[in-house]
This record gives sequence, structure tokens and C-alpha cells, in this order.
Amino acid sequence: MSTTLARLEMPRAWLRAVGLTVLVLLVLAKAFLPGAAVPDVPDAPLAISIVPQPDAIGRVPALGHGGRALLLGVDEAQRTARAELHFEIPPRTSESPQWVLWMRRVPVETLKVGVDGVWDGGDRSFLLPDADGAPLPVGYAYRLPSTWEGEVRLQLSATALRTAALQPEVMTEARYDREVQRTTLLNAFGYASVFTLGVVGLALFFASRDQSFLWYFVFCVSAGLLMAAFDGHAYLFDPFGLTQVLGGAGMHAMSLVFEVAALWVLLDYAETRQSRPLLESALNHACVFLLLVAGVLLAWRQALDGFSAWFMPVAWFGGCIAGVVVTLDAWRRRVPMAAPVLLSVLAMGTGMLAWEMAARGMLGGTLWTLYGYQAAMMLCAAMLGVGLISRISKYREQRDREQRARADSERRMYREAVRTELLTALQTSLRGAQEDAIQPIVFRHLLEHLRRVVPTTTAVAVARGYHGRDTLVVQPASYLSEIEDTIGQRLQTLRRQMAGSLELQRPVTKTGASVPVAIEALVALPVRPPGWGLIVLERAGATVFHPDELTVVRELARLALLQADEAIAALHLRYTAEVDALTGALNRRSLDQALLRTFQEASRRSIPLSVLFVDIDRFKSVNDEHGHACGDHCLREVARIINEQLAEDDVFGRYGGEEFLVILPGRQSEMARAVAENIRAALEATAIEYQERVLALSVSIGVSTQTAGETLPHPAVDRADKALYAAKHAGRNRVHVAPAVFAPRSTTA
Ligand code: GH3
Ligand code: MG
Ligand code: MG
Repeated sequence: MSTTLARLEMPRAWLRAVGLTVLVLLVLAKAFLPGAAVPDVPDAPLAISIVPQPDAIGRVPALGHGGRALLLGVDEAQRTARAELHFEIPPRTSESPQWVLWMRRVPVETLKVGVDGVWDGGDRSFLLPDADGAPLPVGYAYRLPSTWEGEVRLQLSATALRTAALQPEVMTEARYDREVQRTTLLNAFGYASVFTLGVVGLALFFASRDQSFLWYFVFCVSAGLLMAAFDGHAYLFDPFGLTQVLGGAGMHAMSLVFEVAALWVLLDYAETRQSRPLLESALNHACVFLLLVAGVLLAWRQALDGFSAWFMPVAWFGGCIAGVVVTLDAWRRRVPMAAPVLLSVLAMGTGMLAWEMAARGMLGGTLWTLYGYQAAMMLCAAMLGVGLISRISKYREQRDREQRARADSERRMYREAVRTELLTALQTSLRGAQEDAIQPIVFRHLLEHLRRVVPTTTAVAVARGYHGRDTLVVQPASYLSEIEDTIGQRLQTLRRQMAGSLELQRPVTKTGASVPVAIEALVALPVRPPGWGLIVLERAGATVFHPDELTVVRELARLALLQADEAIAALHLRYTAEVDALTGALNRRSLDQALLRTFQEASRRSIPLSVLFVDIDRFKSVNDEHGHACGDHCLREVARIINEQLAEDDVFGRYGGEEFLVILPGRQSEMARAVAENIRAALEATAIEYQERVLALSVSIGVSTQTAGETLPHPAVDRADKALYAAKHAGRNRVHVAPAVFAPRSTTA
């Protein structure tokens, strides 16, 4: 099925191309093959000869285009040219056509045609509306009297606006109508094109705020005005009658303005400022110069006609070369549409050259020589429009790229903020945390913060054997019971899945359903083997986790675990620094610190505080009889038994050797004695077993209580020591409470 489709698909473009080519070939064959073409129009113009007439001082105007055009110059001598037109009207019949004397609308200030005393054709002017009232006049037409036949001699006199070639023709009205229609159509099409393109340019400027479109608009407007000035339609756009005042100078100025507008839009379109700043600057200065010249021409008008006769072609030629250089550069840099723009600039230059040559009688004044440059101008405007508009996609790309970069950096900043917050939260909540609380705290914070950057339905942290513990934390916590079981069942599978990979994703299907309901991502935790751990993220829907998201998960997890490691390491360090390795009770240094602290605190808060001095009885003999290892075991056991008799706030440490010290905050003498008695009795009641031996140990305990005004511990410790001494003396395995003040030792003994 699909192969059949592909086979059909493939030749479709070919079919279209072949079809179109055949159509074009048929049209060309119809037009150009001998006998196939439309026969030439039968109504050829009459043969006409122009006989120049001398002026008052005997100067005769020149003819051009093989004697078919009367040349009008700009120097005073030729400004007004006179000639006789000789032609022969065929004999009249009932079907005789209406004959029309017609000249294309070249710039003349005044034009008179007539036969002295017989017929006056009337005045025509390039600067005034057409006598026929045509909305877009394209020529000067005189309907010849219908009675005329045979040889005719018409007097023609014309005053020049600028260099021009008048090319009179006598033709049937039908042919004249055709010429007028063709030329009017071209003119109307030109105006409509530049108007439409100009409006589009303006709209694009407001939409994109790109100045190039504004220049493009100016270019279109000036193209329209140039056409109006050069086609003799300027009066249509001129409510103040400026056209007549400015005359030929107005045309020159307008053509300079157009040239400047065209160069500016080309420079903008080609982005020459970026690629060739020097060229751009030079051309910009040249443009400003041309505008100045335009101003000077307008100010001095006819006085400068001689100057403009050579300056205008030079300016045009220079402008064309500049345009070609700029577009060639654009083409080399692959600016969109540069090749068509280059071609249309060349066509515009060629068209202008043809126009100037026709104005000097070197070429005939035809539709193409007189209006060809305008067609090229429209083409150029269209191509430039396409080129400029295609730049919009570039802007959009650039804007998208900028937006993406901004969003990226915002996301990065947000992630960085969450990272910092996680760090702060962990540091705050881990301060003073017990070892078994560290991992739940760390994982809870990790998941909470993680879910702020990576949206998930549930997030689970699983750690096995991490610092010797197993932890499972679920966020939101309400899912704990639901997830605990499934994760518990999946533990081995998860471990296998994560072996060797840092992350995994898979769709989650609920039992019985075939469509995935969520996406699950597994991210390994950096736990030192043989421990292992991972984070399981689940997101409802079908949006997979972006690699960036998983990277963030890994980063935050690494940060959290680092904090956990540090907290645990710090805890261990503190433990070894504070705790006696053998018995697990506080060591002497910590004990001294605790004594100082508790004594000061008790005296500040005026609460009672007692101290127990505990010494194992005849311990030396345990060592001697059973060895030091057994002695160590006994020390551990005694420490454990003492500890069991203490409340949470009591402080217990190894004072040295086989002597222990207990601090009892909040206990006065009697209560302390009770605690001591409990300890003594508990040990008496315990048989300590060591390697199939059973030992009976006892302790003697001295009790002392902080007296009023005592802020330092050593007097009380001293008294407890003395009480202990007394207990030993009294026969051991007993408790002695020290009096507030001891009598001298000799009497006690
Ligand atoms: P009494 O206190 O009842 O007067 O007799 P005693 O045998 O306990 O006397 P003393 O306090 O002088 O002896 C302390 C003994 O404790 C000496 C030493 O061998 C033993 N000892 C001290 N520290 C340790 C220890 O860390 N391990 C072991 N196994 N024995 C220790
Ligand atoms: Mg001792
Ligand atoms: Mg002892």
C-alpha cells in the first residue's frame, strides 16, 4: 500500500513540471513559429518625414532616430524647435479611418501643431492634464480633420523641458487606441504595484519596527513619484501647481531623490553597514551629496539645465554601479533574494540608459525604451520586498533564540536558588540532629526541593546500607503506605535496573490498561558500595523527563548526600572526641566540661545538683585473677548497669581507671542517694559473665550535693571522693553521703 503511494507521489512534481513546460512551449510556438503567429496589424502608421525649420536666427533643430524624431535640446538655441511634418493621407473612402497624429508623452513644456490659417490642433503640455481628458495620459494626440486626404504639411513647434526626442506618428484611431491602452495599462500597473508594495512596507515597519521597511516604503513612494514625474502625470499628485513651477528641474530632482531612496533601501537590505562599513559610509555620503544637488537644481532650475543634461546620466550611471556593487556583495553573503535583486538593479540601469538614449534620439521612443526602466523598478521593488520580508523569519529565529537563552538562564538561576535553599535547609536542620535522624531529614529536604524544580506526582528516595542504614522517604508523605509496599517488592529489580546506569525512564502502565498513565524516572544516588540508593520520580501523563531535569536531580542528590556524609562524619568525630572508647561513657575531658556547665547552670537557675563518685571494689584483683580482658569486659558491664539506672538528663562519665562520675541535675542529696543505692543494688544483683566465668562485683559510691554559692564543681567532687573513701573504709559495697563540710580526715578515719 505504502509503496504504491510512494510511486504515485514521486512523479507528481515531474508531471507538474512537464505539464507547465508543454504549456509554455505551446504558447511560444503559437507566437513565434512562422505562420503560427497572430498576423501583424494591418493598420501600419503612415510614412512621415520631419522637415526641421530654422528659428529666428537661422538655427535648424537636429533630427534623431534615423530622421524619425525631432530633438529638443536644453541650450537656448534649441529650446524651441520647429519642424514641418510631411505625410500623405490615402484617398478617402466610406471606410476611411480617423487619422491621429500621435507622439509619446516626452517632456515638453509646450507643443503646438497646426496648418497656418487652416487648422489649429491646439496646445499640449507635459505639465498639464491631457486635452482628451485621459486619466493617465500617455501621449499627445491630435485627431486630424476627416476631410483631409492627399499630401499634408503640418507645422509643429515644441519647447523643451529637458533633453527629449519627439517622435510624431500618424496612425489610425484603432492603432492609437491600442497604443494608449497598452501604455496606460503599464502605467496603471506601475502605480498600483508601488502603492501596494509601499503599504505592505509600511505595515511591516509597524509590525516589526525594522527601519529597513520604512526605507522600503520611502523607496516605493519615491518610485511612484518618479513615474509620475517622468510620465507627465505629476500634476495629478500636485494640488499646488508646483509641477509647472519646477518643470524639468523637478524631474531631475525627483530622479535624484529616487536614486537616493533606492540606494538607502539597498544598503539596508544588504546590511552593508555590517559587512562593508567603508562602502556604506561612502555611499551614504554620496546620497547626501545627491540630495544637496537635487536641492540646488530646484533652487536654480533652468540656469542649471546645461549642468543637469550631463550630470543626470552620470548620477544614474554611478547609482547603478553602486547598486550593483552593493547587491553583488549581498549575493556573495547569501542574503535572501540577492540574485533577483541584482538582476532587477541591472535591468533598471539598462532601462534608464535606454530612456536617456531615446531622449537623445539614439533609440526609438517605444513602450520598452520609455517605460522599460519602470517595469524594472517594479520588479526591483517586488524582489526587495520578498528579500526584506524573508528577513522576518531571521528576526523570529533570533528572537526565539534570545527568548530561549533568557528562559534558560532564568531556569538556571531558579535551580541555583533552589540548590542554595536546599543547602541552607539541610545545614539548619542537621545541626544537632541525632545520627538516625540524619538520613530521613536529608532525603525529605532533597525530595521537597527537587519537586520544586522537577514537577512530579510522587518522589521516592530509597537508600540501602547507606552509612549502615536503610531509609525510605516518600513525597508527598501521604503516599508513604501505598508506595512503601510496591517499592519493597521492587527493591531487587530496581537494584538490577540501576546497576551500571545513572538514569532510566520508562512509561508506567496500570494493571489491565495498555496506555501508559505516567512516566517513571530512576536516578541513582551516589552511595558508596555495598550500599546503594536511588530516587524514583513519577509524573502523571506522558511528558518524559528532560535530560536537564534528571541532571538537576543528580546534582541536588549529590549535594544532599554530601551534607548527610558530612553530618554523619562530624557526629562520629564528636563522638570519638567526647566518649570513652571502652565504656561508651563520657571521657574525662567531656566530663570535666559537663561538670563545669552543669554546676554553673544549677547555681544560675538555683536548682539542686548532686554528684556520685563510683568506684569498683577490689577491681585490681579481677585483673589479677582473670586478666585485663576480663577486667575490660567488667568495666563495660558496670558502665552499662550504671547507665541503666540514670535519667535522660543525668550525665555519666568515666573519671579514670575503674572510677565513674555521675552528675544528677535537679536532685538534692536524698534523691541522689536513692539513685546511688539503685546503682549499687543493681550491680549487686547482676552476675557478670565472662567466658564461662561468673563474677560478682560491687561498687562503693560517694554522694555530694552542691552547696549554695558554689559555682565551680571541684569542691563537690572532692566531697564525693571523700565520701567514697569513707564508704570504702566502712567495708565497701555501700553508699556514703558527704556532709556539707567534712571534718578533718583524721577524725573521720
Ligand atoms: P578498692 O578500690 O576496692 O580499694 O580496690 P581496687 O583493687 O579497686 O584498688 P585500686 O583502685 O587501687 O585499683 C584500680 C585498678 O583498676 C588498677 C588497675 O589494674 C585497674 N584498672 C584501671 N583501669 C583499668 C582498665 O582500663 N582496664 C582494666 N582491666 N583494669 C583497669
Ligand atoms: Mg580506684
Ligand atoms: Mg577500686
